[in-house]
Amino acid sequence: MSVTEQTENRGTSADTGRGASTAPSAGPRLATAGRTDTGQVRPLNEDSWQIAGESETAHLWEQRGQLLVVADGMGGHAAGEVASQLAVETLYQQYYDEDDVPLPPAIRLERAVTEANLSVYEQAVTVDAQSGMGTTLVAAVVHEGRALIANVGDSRAYLIRDGQATQITTDHSWVAEQVKLGTITQEQAQTHAYRNLVTRCLGHRPGMQVDIFEHRLRTGDTLLLCSDGLSNQVPDSELAAVLTEQEPEQAVQTLIDTANEQGGPDNITAVVARVIELPAWLAEVEAATERPERLASKTTQPVRMEREQIEAATLAEAAGEPGAVASHRLRNTGRRRIQLSPRRRATLLLVLIALLALLAVVTLIALRAEKILRWLAWPPTSATRSAPQTWLSPQRFLDAPVVVWARSLASV
Ligand code: CA
Repeated sequence: MSVTEQTENRGTSADTGRGASTAPSAGPRLATAGRTDTGQVRPLNEDSWQIAGESETAHLWEQRGQLLVVADGMGGHAAGEVASQLAVETLYQQYYDEDDVPLPPAIRLERAVTEANLSVYEQAVTVDAQSGMGTTLVAAVVHEGRALIANVGDSRAYLIRDGQATQITTDHSWVAEQVKLGTITQEQAQTHAYRNLVTRCLGHRPGMQVDIFEHRLRTGDTLLLCSDGLSNQVPDSELAAVLTEQEPEQAVQTLIDTANEQGGPDNITAVVARVIELPAWLAEVEAATERPERLASKTTQPVRMEREQIEAATLAEAAGEPGAVASHRLRNTGRRRIQLSPRRRATLLLVLIALLALLAVVTLIALRAEKILRWLAWPPTSATRSAPQTWLSPQRFLDAPVVVWARSLASV
């Protein structure tokens, strides 16, 4: 399939885009590129992508970062193309909406994905020809020294660092679930008949769950967002090699060519962002707040942010300065739990056991009081009734109102 060269920063059918953000002083400098191709088999390209352009959004990058997105549409009669385009456009508009609300990027991103879902869903239920359409969506926001990734479906985000590609997102697909359950292997999943079946997407329900991940970035890191038309055809090791050796603009073309050489059975989309330079102030903040080795180990594993963490991060960001939030947002879960030391816990347990034992003894005594008292009493039973009415007398004890009440309780 032919590829048309364009210099825009978005696309649906065969086109390409690139950029080198320059950046406002506070943000990282990125080299970006995006390209999509119909592939060798499908009649239409239902993938869409976009990279936030400098001329339109750079004034918001310091506060919100630069947004990149890939969506892979599904549905007959070209509805898949409509779904992916609508999702990308809505996400973009919502993310860069000109409001003054000081939302942190993670919250803003999650909300924008939720809005994108609603707009696809509303169109799918109102336009007959587009009924049942849906789309995957994977989006990245590069803000300060980190990447925030939002994912719904089986399009992927990878981090390429030191020549290795690490998948950041978790696929919401039937085969991914089966691999997790151990019923099929990773190799079987790649060729399975159901490998295109997604378990989560935009447009099918008014509500859906978005996965949000956060990654610290280093200079030289490369982010790749792609549709399954690329990740199913090109192994991770080759993604890593191409994205390590080539500049983003050349790399997206090479990746698409490679997928096409493998048969190109699906639409292929790749969006790439490479960190050319991180802001100097960020390095100073990191050096002052954490030891570099700890930072390095923290960034090698993908960190999935749960909703409550995102909400906690909102509070933290609202309260503190941005640099501090970048370092500590994942630690503050916002929960207030009563923490007891092991010693106090043991003491509490002992007290509880003692109380229960006491209760058991009292109950037993109340039930068996007469027998016990007769056994304890002196002189023995026959003489008890005629014994002097001292405070030790069993009968007097048994007739006491408290004992009568306790025995009645116990016998109930
Ligand atoms: Ca696809």
